[in-house]
Amino acid sequence: MGIYPPPLENLIRQLSKLPGIGQKSATRVALYILKKPKGPAEDLARCLLEVKEKISFCSLCFNFTDRDPCTICRDETRRNGMLCVVEGPGDQLAIEESGFFKGRYHVLHGVLSPLDGIGPEDLKIGELLARLEKEAVQEVIMAMNPTVEGEATVSFLTDLLSKKGIILSRIALGIPMGGDLKYMDAMTLRHALKSRTSLRP
Ligand SMILES: [Zn+2]
Repeated sequence: MGIYPPPLENLIRQLSKLPGIGQKSATRVALYILKKPKGPAEDLARCLLEVKEKISFCSLCFNFTDRDPCTICRDETRRNGMLCVVEGPGDQLAIEESGFFKGRYHVLHGVLSPLDGIGPEDLKIGELLARLEKEAVQEVIMAMNPTVEGEATVSFLTDLLSKKGIILSRIALGIPMGGDLKYMDAMTLRHALKSRTSLRP
């Protein structure tokens, strides 16, 4: 039995199930909510239910949306035939905010990670294949993060899509803007040299 009354213990238990929130943080948040007036707690409870009720996957790109298809998939000014594959909604948002890419997206919702038990069936890979059957896609750009799991996912998708007659590309990895070669790790430098681009056509 916990040291707090059961309803408070229940709230702490539920909060501590959230990613990145341990027992101590959960207790702090629960006590904070308890001390505040009822209004903010009701707003929070309403928002929690609302995201579950109103947000779902876009049936085309599998990003989260409150309207299917999502705004980007509905946008007729964007270029068809160029598909940027990303790990998650946050990555898609980051690319979108750069304002450079005007094609379409496909959100995998994770990367392959056998150690965590995440296989191809746990990601939106089957949905990507189905999409490539239906849409006239000329190029798939892999925009996975430069992690072991990200690289493994790129290799897996490259093998899977290599015989489909589609151009497969990977976003360049290397030195960030404002970076300094002296402080780069060996892996970053290796990738930067590998991803070098020609200065003259
Ligand atoms: Zn969409």
